[in-house]
Amino acid sequence: MTDVYEWLDRAMQTIHQANWYRSTKVITSRAGSTATVAGQEMLMFASNNYLGLAGDRRLIDAAIEATQKYGTGSTGSRLVSGHLDLHEELEYSIAQLKQTEAALVFSSGYLANLGSIASLVGTRDLILSDAYNHACLKHGAVLSEAKVVEFAHASSDDLAAKLQQHRHQYRRCLIATDTVFSMDGDLCPLREIMALADVHDCMVLVDEAHGTGVFGASGAGVVSAVGIDRPLIQVGTLSKALGSLGGYVAGSAKLIDFLRNRASSWIYTTGLSPADTAAAVAAVSIVQSEPQRRDRLWQNVENLRQALALSSIDTFPTASPIVAVKVGDTSKTLSIVRSLQSQGIFAPAIRPPTVPTARIRLTPIATHTDAQIQTLVTCLKNAILDCK
Ligand code: PMP
Repeated sequence: MTDVYEWLDRAMQTIHQANWYRSTKVITSRAGSTATVAGQEMLMFASNNYLGLAGDRRLIDAAIEATQKYGTGSTGSRLVSGHLDLHEELEYSIAQLKQTEAALVFSSGYLANLGSIASLVGTRDLILSDAYNHACLKHGAVLSEAKVVEFAHASSDDLAAKLQQHRHQYRRCLIATDTVFSMDGDLCPLREIMALADVHDCMVLVDEAHGTGVFGASGAGVVSAVGIDRPLIQVGTLSKALGSLGGYVAGSAKLIDFLRNRASSWIYTTGLSPADTAAAVAAVSIVQSEPQRRDRLWQNVENLRQALALSSIDTFPTASPIVAVKVGDTSKTLSIVRSLQSQGIFAPAIRPPTVPTARIRLTPIATHTDAQIQTLVTCLKNAILDCK
């Protein structure tokens, strides 16, 4: 009999040859500035737990309490049996954080982007998408069946040119962009994008996955930090600074009502679990009431940037807590990461096809100490020397 799965061996061989092979690493400790990875105590510089909330006692207690009260699962889709008062509370608090009329909670940020993009535009429409957008924005665009045109990363000039060239041929147009780019750490030119959207009658969808909790006086994100007060579609996740799981869309009441009726990735999936929902409610409150966490995060980011510069370690230009060390060569990147691991530092190699050139992505969080940041830089310097 023919082995119809034999091609998998060849596919895996190709992945190995290109140094693209990835595997999981087992963690056996609570989320925080340190972690036990494959049995080894390490400093954690690989998480998106920007404010350290994923291991916060208050989130843990909220999750336990909700589980006691509601059980472990929400038992059905939101429109059938899975809509809890907890979901409403979370949606209300997200809308309040974002200063929007309403919000809708999805089971992940991935699904929030997928469902909103795919329902807002269709075959007669145009999507202008930043070339470095997260995969879920790109996949949402494919699912929508709209014409997708990518503009050069963070280039409002290229966006303007592409709008000039294509906009008139389509009914609706959606400009879609991350606010903080997850693998580079830079920001989108939001003011310029909003101005172009005005001129060309476009909707704007921003993904605040790495912005929420981190930017803005009350942690509302980049939209708030930049001071945009025009209507737009704000998507995000509950799984990074908010330390839980799930995603959301925040915007006008009519947008949210539309999504409740048309976003397949919300309609046809089970509601977020009580534990995740309650933890996120607690997180949104902490994000607003404890700005000192954000201050501490930014202090750590600044310390890291300065220490890297002092050690002449080259990074991609960043305006966020995502600091990507430039390496370029994939096998060298992997060697540096292995050396870091042997010194007790957990930091990921980010490689093609995720990004054009290999790099090491460092994410300091609010609960790192000055000494831990210094240790990271010392170990990184050693690792780079080792791998020269
Ligand atoms: N957008 C961006 C920019 C992200 O980095 C991620 C997570 N990697 C997501 C969306 C997806 O969010 P979630 O993990 O909640 O699905």
